[in-house]
Amino acid sequence: MPSADCPSCDEQVIIRGEPKLGQYVSCPHCGEPLEVVTILPLELNFAPEDYEEYEDEDEDEDY
Ligand SMILES: [Zn+2]
Repeated sequence: MPSADCPSCDEQVIIRGEPKLGQYVSCPHCGEPLEVVTILPLELNFAPEDYEEYEDEDEDEDY
């Protein structure tokens, strides 16, 4: 499973499935929102502040 170091807490963050460039993940250790910046090697950086849209698979649509 692909994993990278969290730039915030230096713990290992495991990406489930295939990591994609620009994919947003949050660190399971410190909760920091992170962005995949390179695939090989897999590296994470702090996500930009407007990362929201990708994080929650929006199921909160108003009906
Ligand atoms: Zn972290």
